[in-house]
Amino acid sequence: MKIKANTNFTGVDDYLFSHINNKVNEYLKDHKDAKIIRLGIGDVTKPLPKIVVDAMIKAANEMGVENTFRGYPPEHGYTFLKEAIRDYYKNFKVDLDLDTIFVSDGAKSDLGNILDILGDNKAYIPNPVYPVYLESNEMSGRTIEYVYGNEENHFVPLPSDSMSTGIIYLCSPNNPTGSVYSYEGLTKWVEFARKTGSLIIFDAAYEAFIVGDYPHSIYEIEGAKECAIEICSFSKQAGFTGVRCGYSIVPKELDANGYSLYKLWKRRQATKFNGVSYITQRAAEAALSEEGIKACQENIKYYRRNALLIKEVLDKKNIWHTGGDNSPYIWLKCPNNMKSWDFFDYLLDKANIVGTPGEGFGTSGTYFFRLTAFGSYENTIEACKRLEELL
Ligand code: PLP
Repeated sequence: MKIKANTNFTGVDDYLFSHINNKVNEYLKDHKDAKIIRLGIGDVTKPLPKIVVDAMIKAANEMGVENTFRGYPPEHGYTFLKEAIRDYYKNFKVDLDLDTIFVSDGAKSDLGNILDILGDNKAYIPNPVYPVYLESNEMSGRTIEYVYGNEENHFVPLPSDSMSTGIIYLCSPNNPTGSVYSYEGLTKWVEFARKTGSLIIFDAAYEAFIVGDYPHSIYEIEGAKECAIEICSFSKQAGFTGVRCGYSIVPKELDANGYSLYKLWKRRQATKFNGVSYITQRAAEAALSEEGIKACQENIKYYRRNALLIKEVLDKKNIWHTGGDNSPYIWLKCPNNMKSWDFFDYLLDKANIVGTPGEGFGTSGTYFFRLTAFGSYENTIEACKRLEELL
């Protein structure tokens, strides 16, 4: 063919978890009886709460009846769900304009798609972080600069003097480090963004795991509606990784050199997105009801108990770590100055535990490792026993 391909894709690394799976499968070929415990991938394991399933069944039944059947959903989301999201944000003392909530099929899609409405700006990407920010910017050929997390800043980096105007990605609680921005830290970012005319893309996918006194939404910070888009998800909050629902908040105050980002996103979604199914949106609405939030929090408590078990072992072994309190992720320093892929092999071979090498999230993760609390309680106990013997 003579058409030109988007060659920006060619430099993007292979998907981290496919590489890990290949390594585990290779190992299993020679160790058929190995009882592998997977604390690697960030997927939920607890089933959906009953109230959510009931809402889906009810909605599915409505779809089979003539006068309650629905065709295309509104591309920006049904009002009933947007109202539920608006009410949920009242818990954080954040007032949202209903129009500025855009329901989607998940945070990953929005994180990739949002670049459609932004010109050729520099992207500031935390290192380490969820790889989608980096990869979607690479795919669109943007200039990338990193904002480095490390032991000293406890993996919550702040703006520095060398930074200028750009698109700033923030993820709090962070994947993979589990660290959370304080009100003070987030205020520094909002002030920086306003001073430099930058845009913050705030990923709040793990917001529901916060138990301490930390911001759940960037809009808790004064002035954030003038400089930030928030992207959130029902995946980790309500176990929707397989159901698929998320949302973005694009305030009307966002002015990019005279262009309203709200209008551009609204326009973009109208052309390139056809909405989320009625059944899914009813399920999401149920997850945000009083009973739904309680049930979802029960699942989150279950994961938190796992996280605390893992942290206990690391504390006992004097291994530096962060996360786990307000997040399903525990980020630890590999013992004996090991590199993360070496530690991956060591853990797989000696303890049959699969985790995620920190390097998969950026160079700052070269000597770090991520374990997740999404395993079963029984497996987590067994993994902790093995870790205690090995480390
Ligand atoms: N943002 C972060 C930080 C994540 O870790 C994930 C998934 O692991 C997502 C977004 C994706 O969310 P969704 O399932 O809604 O696409």
